Amino acid sequence: MAYDPNNIFARILRGEIPCKKILETPHSLAFHDIQPQAPIHALVIPKGAYVHLDDFTAKASDAEISDFTRAVGQVARQLGADADGYRILANCGANANQEVPHLHIHVFGGRRLGRMIDKPSA
Ligand code: AMP
Repeated sequence: MAYDPNNIFARILRGEIPCKKILETPHSLAFHDIQPQAPIHALVIPKGAYVHLDDFTAKASDAEISDFTRAVGQVARQLGADADGYRILANCGANANQEVPHLHIHVFGGRRLGRMIDKPSA
């Protein structure tokens, strides 16, 4: 899938629409999800134009991957999610219902998060 430069996270990165920023690093930005599904629900995105984790892991530099991975952990610690544990999740493409076509890692915490994924109904 080609990268769409007008997706909502690209617009946040360009400063065209606001976000509730948590952290900014040379290659990453983290902000609060607009529709939180847990008391802690942050999104961490790379500044580069990557559609999803598959795209990122194939094309990003080691510096970007390192910065992004560290940003995820730093966000969890900064929000206090590390104390009782948290879940990270990256939807990648159609089967995962990825809605915004710019790589983002969800960081959920602040409550018990239940089982990992939905099971198909019989
Ligand atoms: P996904 O289904 O993994 O693509 O998740 C997209 C996430 O982006 C959802 O949790 C949305 O609530 C969130 N989202 C969409 N627009 C914004 C925005 N402007 N600011 C913050 N989060 C957003």
